[in-house]
Amino acid sequence: MISRQLFPNSKGNALIGVFQRSLLYNSSTLSSQLRPQSFQKVQCLHTRPLNQAKEARLHADIDVKETKEAPHFMKMYTTGELWRYTLLSFVTAQPWLLKLAIKVLPYTPVFLVRFFVCPVYTGGENFSQVRETGVKLLNRGITNMMLSYAVEDADGKLDKAELKASVEMIKQSVNEVLVKEYELAESRFENGQMLTSPASGYVALKPTGIMENSADILANFDNPAYAEQYAKYLDVCRDICAHAKEHGKGKVVIMFDAEKLWLQKGVYDAQRRMMKEFNSNSQVIVAGTLQMYLKHSVDLLKYEIEEAKKGKYQLAMKLVRGAYTHSEPTRDRDIHACKKDTDDSYNEGTAIMLESLASSWKSGDRNGPVSRLIVASHNAESCDIVAKKVRSMAPAGLDLSTNEDVVYGQLLGMSDDQSLELTRRGLKVVKYVPWGPAKATKEYLTRRLEENGDAARGGWDHFFRGCKELMARTVS
Ligand SMILES: Cc1cc2nc3c(=O)[nH]c(=O)nc-3n(C[C@H](O)[C@H](O)[C@H](O)COP(=O)(O)OP(=O)(O)OC[C@H]3O[C@@H](n4cnc5c(N)ncnc54)[C@H](O)[C@@H]3O)c2cc1C
Repeated sequence: MISRQLFPNSKGNALIGVFQRSLLYNSSTLSSQLRPQSFQKVQCLHTRPLNQAKEARLHADIDVKETKEAPHFMKMYTTGELWRYTLLSFVTAQPWLLKLAIKVLPYTPVFLVRFFVCPVYTGGENFSQVRETGVKLLNRGITNMMLSYAVEDADGKLDKAELKASVEMIKQSVNEVLVKEYELAESRFENGQMLTSPASGYVALKPTGIMENSADILANFDNPAYAEQYAKYLDVCRDICAHAKEHGKGKVVIMFDAEKLWLQKGVYDAQRRMMKEFNSNSQVIVAGTLQMYLKHSVDLLKYEIEEAKKGKYQLAMKLVRGAYTHSEPTRDRDIHACKKDTDDSYNEGTAIMLESLASSWKSGDRNGPVSRLIVASHNAESCDIVAKKVRSMAPAGLDLSTNEDVVYGQLLGMSDDQSLELTRRGLKVVKYVPWGPAKATKEYLTRRLEENGDAARGGWDHFFRGCKELMARTVS
């Protein structure tokens, strides 16, 4: 079923596929022909001779907040992307409009979603389209992707064959997309076309999307009655990680995503076991996720660092605030009471990881307990805090343009302005790119928009700026 969706065979779907592919193709050729002057101005930041500019930027005071309103990113959109983005900015400009859009999305025909929404928020339906998305991101200075195969099974509706096919897709995306993206970024960096050396690619693993009955197994991971099933679950995780180790050429990380709290104890255990097995000798093959809106997360992070110290493996963590404030049944008990407390917890988490990293930088020990901090946030202030701390803590001689101990992640189509500002300052940005059959990405997007609606909202400002940019392109 998944392969049928990936390779559409109905006449209508095939036509849409051809049309979309031609759009993708045309957009990449168009972008080089019709690239506006200001685009070239922005892009020249990624070409050499850059050394002076690079130095200046890496040592400049970084304040993403101040430049967040600058619409440079729109100039990097192809005209097709720009009008879609402008339209979506309109749809998401007001909370009530966004709510309406989220309600309507599940009933919208797949071909409309594929045409209007997918090009902004998703990487495509097959490897070749996802690779095209990767090239587009490289053109914007974004050196790699976090690929998330959109098939999830939190409701336990998918059958064994569908989930097996899903795991195959996840594994193949390592060699079919991420290694290729890395190598392309590397050659562009060597030719002086990129400001920073490439970042590793990431496969975002939905813990409930890899085996039938995953949610039940994760919720009961420590129940002896589930021991056999949990062992099988770990085998699937192990198989995916081993594939990344063997085929990822040291350039791909398997990253567990975090889900709702009732599953998280199982997810913590699985990600910890995989890090223990695969992250040794300063190599990062596996990363986990912590949701800092949970009251227990700061203590849990300290515990994870201690475990890594004891077990002599390297901890790699993506820190997020957390996506399920509105739907956690025990919200009042487990989630911080207000946004400020979540912000403080997030900033404390990044500070704890940075302190550990900094002591490894100082001692020159590449096998310290913390090996990678993934700042997965659209919050400009948190990104600023981390970027400033890194610069103040990094010892002389640590080349921040090649070091990837700290990377920044934002969702595709959301906070693109912020991603661009971070890359222009020589920081490593990796975009989180959902991909897969349009029907699955539709469901995925509905969930993400419910959870991250604010980040998706370009607002009236972006709508009007988009219109202005479109008019300027039409006139010129
Ligand atoms: C690359 C990437 C990967 C992600 N992966 C995951 C994942 O695996 N699992 C997951 O759960 N989420 C994930 N997210 C989503 C993330 O958890 C946030 O929902 C989203 O990024 C918004 O938070 P922010 O830090 O970007 O920005 P902000 O807009 O500053 O923060 C919004 C967040 O603050 C918190 N918050 C808001 N109001 C309150 C309140 N009243 N009380 C307490 N807290 C509040 C919520 O967590 C909310 O999502 C990911 C996000 C990114 C960018």
